Amino acid sequence: MAFEGLAERLQGTIQKIKGKGKVSEQDVKEMMREVRLALIEADVNLKVVKEFVKKVSERAIGVEVMKSLTPGQQVIKIVQDELVALMGGEQSPINFNTKPPTVIMMVGLQGAGKTTTTGKLANVMRKKYNRKPLLVAADIYRPAAIQQLQTLGKQLSIPVFALGNDVSPVEIARQAIEHAKEEHHDVVIIDTAGRLHIDEELMDELKNIKQLKEPDEVFLVVDAMTGQDAVNVAQSFNETIGISGVVLTKLDGDTRGGAALSIRAVTEKPIKYVGMGEKMDALEPFHPDRMASRILG
Ligand code: GDP
Repeated sequence: MAFEGLAERLQGTIQKIKGKGKVSEQDVKEMMREVRLALIEADVNLKVVKEFVKKVSERAIGVEVMKSLTPGQQVIKIVQDELVALMGGEQSPINFNTKPPTVIMMVGLQGAGKTTTTGKLANVMRKKYNRKPLLVAADIYRPAAIQQLQTLGKQLSIPVFALGNDVSPVEIARQAIEHAKEEHHDVVIIDTAGRLHIDEELMDELKNIKQLKEPDEVFLVVDAMTGQDAVNVAQSFNETIGISGVVLTKLDGDTRGGAALSIRAVTEKPIKYVGMGEKMDALEPFHPDRMASRILG
């Protein structure tokens, strides 16, 4: 299960302070030393860990005695609040265009789960938001990427716009948006090319697609299992092309949690969805408060 190690360690630490009727500075220091180690072990970005520990410590030292909560419980609440804040606070909604179609660009490195997530998101658009999505196959480089999207489209009964491997991704996107207008599709989800590594050519291509019609969302798909690498990928995509949110995949695996806890703080962009499996219904909105509760028990 995801976050298992982190949850176990934090919950153990918290148990020690929970019943305390008085929390000394020493108690807080000891607890924060353990919290710090737990976060580092979970592969959370070091700068993020430092900031987090500083914030919680400042608030926890000298907590006032409240009638409803013991000082120990108050300290736990501070940890919980700051964990929620770290992950972005509120759940971040989809930015729909008031003038359809809403254009969503999916970007990411190969293997992160981009094409799978593109299908899942189309499914969410139809089921949850009652929209009429159009999928666009603009990954012309990876063999079988177009076919993979077409297979998903067939499975979901959602149309896929494709022009083969010989037309440029920018032209595919342009024609797809035109087609969507004609056919009254109100959401266009573009599956762009993935590469093994970030390279200039890929970034230029993505920038060109972006310039065509400023997308309402640019979702970067990253694999939670890759920890700090996912955070670095998010940072460079954001700096180079600008993203509006992140989809963190494979959270059904046994990821330690580093990416989930660091991405927002490092990139200032929210995690919008999490992938919870390979099936087409395994995409969930990311709720910082629920995630924090899951970690803290
Ligand atoms: P792309 O190269 O980024 O387009 O990646 P794909 O969409 O082809 O996905 C790569 C692999 O990851 C496939 O085997 C997917 O089934 C799998 N995958 C994608 N998302 C998830 C997820 O949330 N959980 C799990 N367990 N597997 C996933």
